[in-house]
Amino acid sequence: MLCFLYFGVSTAVLKVISNITNYHKTRIAPTPSGFLHLGNVLSFAISAGLAQKTGAKILLRIDDLDQLRVNDEYLQDIFDTLNFLQIPWDEGPRDIKEFKDKYSQLHRMPLYNVAFKQLYDAGLVFACTCSRKQMREEGLVNSCTCFEHNQPLTAQNVNWRLLTTGDDVAVKNYDGHIIRAALPASMHNFIIKKKDGFPSYQLASLIDDVFYEIDLVVRGDDLWPSTLAQHELALALKQSAFHHIGFFHHPLLMEQSGQKLSKSAGATSVRYLRQHGHTAADIYTLTARMLGINQHTENWQQLAAIAFRL
Ligand SMILES: [Zn+2]
Repeated sequence: MLCFLYFGVSTAVLKVISNITNYHKTRIAPTPSGFLHLGNVLSFAISAGLAQKTGAKILLRIDDLDQLRVNDEYLQDIFDTLNFLQIPWDEGPRDIKEFKDKYSQLHRMPLYNVAFKQLYDAGLVFACTCSRKQMREEGLVNSCTCFEHNQPLTAQNVNWRLLTTGDDVAVKNYDGHIIRAALPASMHNFIIKKKDGFPSYQLASLIDDVFYEIDLVVRGDDLWPSTLAQHELALALKQSAFHHIGFFHHPLLMEQSGQKLSKSAGATSVRYLRQHGHTAADIYTLTARMLGINQHTENWQQLAAIAFRL
């Protein structure tokens, strides 16, 4: 049944792993807004493999601020998938109850609020009343003209946007070399606080990584603009620890149509494969095949080794 899946990776190569410094802690950070898929499997295996190579501990961080999309079924899927695939983690919740009691992002709202106040006091944010629909229809993507209207930040139902500089930021690659790049135009003045009062992904992710003393981040290539945005935000917040994090961006598994794999109950969801009798080794082997490697792959160590070799 797996033969109907045809995929490729989004970029030609993963970088060769060499001369890596030691790291203290990395994280795997799935979002419980859908069922995990083979793209997540690749990311988890690379995270675990890189942690093993660098001596880093692994934190399980679950981002649950998008309360409208998060549900217990998706939360349980995270634990079921990690356990089924025998992906280890050293810190973080072991089940839904422990997650809700101790690790939910809702517990860290006071930290996010401190960051909001800091940006407000420094005059680095402006209010935006645009709706997503409006921005889409007007082709504004992720920017708007609200800055010119000087609307009160204290009003209800406004986004807060960061006044971005357009300057290059310095990102530390996992191997220690520095990459300098500027935020893409589509991310200018990105949102840091949403209309519902919760932080955006960019702000929450940055604050959480600093809070948990993360110094190694593994994420997909699609999050490179977010990496740049978070560096610009870290400068605005004077969160210098963030600039010491080493970043590893890996290629994404793509559908034949060129689309990213989506979180659904479809044929690439680990849950679907598990429920249809596939073993962990089947799932690792299928993920390796999507990387273009036709080789039996028993576990995450072997998948990580394949990914690092490409
Ligand atoms: Zn606006």
